[in-house]
Amino acid sequence: MGFQTDSIHAGQQPDPSTGAIMTPIFQTSTFVQESIGKHKGYEYARTQNPTRQAMEKNIAVLEKGKHGIAFASGLAAISAIIQMLESGDHVVCSDNVYGGTYRVFETLFKKFGLSFSFVDTSDITRVERAVTPQTRLIFVETPTNPMLTLSSLEEIAALAAEKKCLTVVDNTFMSPYFQNPLVFGIDMVVHSSTKYLNGHSDVVGGIVLTRRDDLAEKLFYIQNAAGAVPGPQDCFLILRATKTLALRMREHEKNALALARYLEKHSAVERVYYPGLPGHPQHDLAKKQMSGFGGIVSMELGSLENARKFAEAVRIFSLAESLGGVESLVDHPAIMTHASVPRGERLRMGLTDGLIRLSVGVEDEEDLLADVEQALAAMRS
Ligand SMILES: *Cc1c(COP(=O)(O)O)cnc(C)c1O
Repeated sequence: MGFQTDSIHAGQQPDPSTGAIMTPIFQTSTFVQESIGKHKGYEYARTQNPTRQAMEKNIAVLEKGKHGIAFASGLAAISAIIQMLESGDHVVCSDNVYGGTYRVFETLFKKFGLSFSFVDTSDITRVERAVTPQTRLIFVETPTNPMLTLSSLEEIAALAAEKKCLTVVDNTFMSPYFQNPLVFGIDMVVHSSTKYLNGHSDVVGGIVLTRRDDLAEKLFYIQNAAGAVPGPQDCFLILRATKTLALRMREHEKNALALARYLEKHSAVERVYYPGLPGHPQHDLAKKQMSGFGGIVSMELGSLENARKFAEAVRIFSLAESLGGVESLVDHPAIMTHASVPRGERLRMGLTDGLIRLSVGVEDEEDLLADVEQALAAMRS
């Protein structure tokens, strides 16, 4: 089936007791058993919930996977993956990962005898050099936030196969509509469903997708044993939202590309970062492993003062953390989302005080362009 047909139907059937076309919100903590140990496959809602299962199956299909294991947040999903490891194991991780991912690895999991090396995974020789006999996992985010640097899925999968370690790709930025890492031989994909999957800025959630039965079995075990499960109402909202994922992603991309092209020519903008621009250093890799370029555009405005003026002048864009919702947002990474990254480290990757990240929403293109135009004019006056 095509992506849109799957997004609307996969994992769902009309409710057998009523015919309701939408999967009900099974707002229950337990399920009545006919006799001792005789039940309909549902015992206790941490372990199984029908609304959650429908959502997990739906996204598993969209990611070209076999199993989906849902969690209460993106970070709970990432934590569950790390909980598969043993004390003494080593993880190689992209150095420009989501700040919360860096924080949970460095401040929580390190305490349990795990070690982490943060390297530029866009350069496979650096990844290879960081792998030790203790390395069990390679964790990659591509494209990265907010610099939009890509890592080669094919090269990472090949290296991991040779070194016998597992691979994880955080695919939050592209969503399953534009990139399917499992197809490239990556073992697990993780999403913050808070972002594009849900897309309406009203749920925090996470999910892991895989084709491998052995990994799914471990993850379902951790989901139940550690218990960071999402509630049924949130699962329902995400399941409803994936029905329009393709429509939303196409609009996000159309608006982002129009803005990126406009900003590229604007004299007040020093540099634009968007993988869909032919000038992006990895534009060819982007075309090879993604079917689109997404809705995030970053730009260099030259100074903190300029960034502040721009962020204060926008009217349709809102100044807020997060991304991937239908509404357009502006973020100042150095002070907002990436404040925990040491300054030297930030500057090394180009994350300056003048950098602004735009999460381009699905409002009318002309309105977004006009808003950015007037904000840049206000910045210069
Ligand atoms: C937001 C985000 C996360 C964390 O997800 P939460 O749902 O906020 O816990 C992880 N990775 C990326 C790329 C994100 O943008």
